[in-house]
Amino acid sequence: MKKVIVIGGGVVGCALARQLSRYEADILVLEGGEDVASGASKANSGIVHAGFDAKPGTMKALTNVEGAKMYEAFCREVDAPYVRSGAMVLAFDEKQRAVLEKLLRQGEENGVEEQRIIEREEILRLEPNVNPDVVCALLEPTSGLTSPYELTCALADHAAVNGAQFQMETMVEKVVPENGGFRVVTNKGDYLCDILVNCAGVNSAALHNQLSESKMTIIPRKGEYYLLDHQAEPFFQRTMFQCPSKMGKGVLVSPTAHGNTLLGPSAEDVDDSMDLGTNADILAKVRDAARLTWPGMTLRTVITTFAGIRAHGTNDDFVIGAVEGVPGAYETVGIESPGLSAAPSIAKRLGEQIVREQGLNEKSEWKPAPRREKPFYAMTLEERADVVRKNPEYGALVCRCEQVTEAEIRAAIRRPVGARTIDGVKCRTRAGMGRCQGGFCSPRVLEILAEELHLDPTEVTKCGGESHVLVSTIAQALQKGGNHNAQ
Ligand SMILES: Cc1cc2nc3c(=O)[nH]c(=O)nc-3n(C[C@H](O)[C@H](O)[C@H](O)COP(=O)(O)OP(=O)(O)OC[C@H]3O[C@@H](n4cnc5c(N)ncnc54)[C@H](O)[C@@H]3O)c2cc1C
Repeated sequence: MKKVIVIGGGVVGCALARQLSRYEADILVLEGGEDVASGASKANSGIVHAGFDAKPGTMKALTNVEGAKMYEAFCREVDAPYVRSGAMVLAFDEKQRAVLEKLLRQGEENGVEEQRIIEREEILRLEPNVNPDVVCALLEPTSGLTSPYELTCALADHAAVNGAQFQMETMVEKVVPENGGFRVVTNKGDYLCDILVNCAGVNSAALHNQLSESKMTIIPRKGEYYLLDHQAEPFFQRTMFQCPSKMGKGVLVSPTAHGNTLLGPSAEDVDDSMDLGTNADILAKVRDAARLTWPGMTLRTVITTFAGIRAHGTNDDFVIGAVEGVPGAYETVGIESPGLSAAPSIAKRLGEQIVREQGLNEKSEWKPAPRREKPFYAMTLEERADVVRKNPEYGALVCRCEQVTEAEIRAAIRRPVGARTIDGVKCRTRAGMGRCQGGFCSPRVLEILAEELHLDPTEVTKCGGESHVLVSTIAQALQKGGNHNAQ
């Protein structure tokens, strides 16, 4: 069997590993972070864009529209959230109406369906919280929402039940062609493979440049957000965009797949692709921009702020395919927005190319994705009583804000690519996603992780590396203090 190494366990790398797991191949995903979805796939708007925004004829346009059409079935297959919420792009004067007309034509050219321009009265009927100064809007009913980290974890699980292996905290430092294949040099030692696929997000151009004479550049572009708590009645049903600029789609106000409200993102080019800090001045600009869409906006229910980094390619398009002149090497470079929307299409197209060119045979059996139990928060009282009777761990509520039980946390750790950290549990179950942001549940989540993974509690981390939560047991600390006093 040919050995395939996929570098990067983001939504693209995991979707590709899943696609290739249908074929006879020995697949290994090397992920530098502590978990899958450690890069842009963890921190983005979660919107499945309809595809009106991308320039016609580009890979972005092609894979966005194709991906958006595949999304609902794609999410159903791996048991990940998808909501066909729709979207609007708002215009506040006649000059902006011309921009909407251009976007409408662009969408038609890209193959987007059902879109139309609507006037003020209809906008306010559909979305009563929109600024009444709005003039018209481009309505995009085929736009949707997903939970990007839940989707990425689900894709990884499906690949894993079909034999793909995942190795975390393994940073690829160098890729070298060797004996018709590749040597992949990492912080955990060297790996050999026949087929190499670079899906390394912000680092994809650096790895490309090690293999190719034709150089590429990625500029890390940070986006910062406010996240508001979920409400019984969401403020907006649809994603509300303003007219786009050359830096992107602009600040949006959007529901999330779980009913929270998202304000953002900003768009700032940065030097450090690892710096996910937020900045009060940038967030103030996000707030002011969001207020144009939603004048009645209140930040009283903000539960957190966060940032994600886009991998902006200077050629302004997705690069997907074989690395020219390097047989056996493939790549996805510059997968900024709408990369989440395009992921199903990117994985299918690139996967089919690899299978064709490398002569991989289809397996006789491709196992379905593991199903997750219905989340406790979504169960009726009868369903809750039933699951508690069958498994008393459903009766122990660990995260009160998001109603996550001990049974669900243990199940998340036991999944094929299971949670290994407190953030890993959060991404898979929502424990810690709520208004207290883990203040209440983290200690219990830590205990459960230690029990399930047979670790000392001091070894459990928030998000890998040195992010230990506990320094020592009290007994160890007292002993150290005692020894110190004795010296
Ligand atoms: C602020 C923001 C908002 C966005 N909003 C949307 C949206 O609403 N809709 C949409 O369609 N798209 C959106 N996007 C874009 C979307 O998030 C990305 O296109 C998509 O997540 C890219 O997935 P990926 O797998 O290519 O990259 P990533 O998710 O970044 O995955 C790359 C992985 O590779 C790992 N890695 C990197 N270097 C190495 C190495 N050397 N060795 C090993 N592992 C390595 C990283 O840790 C990471 O996990 C947004 C992006 C941002 C930042």
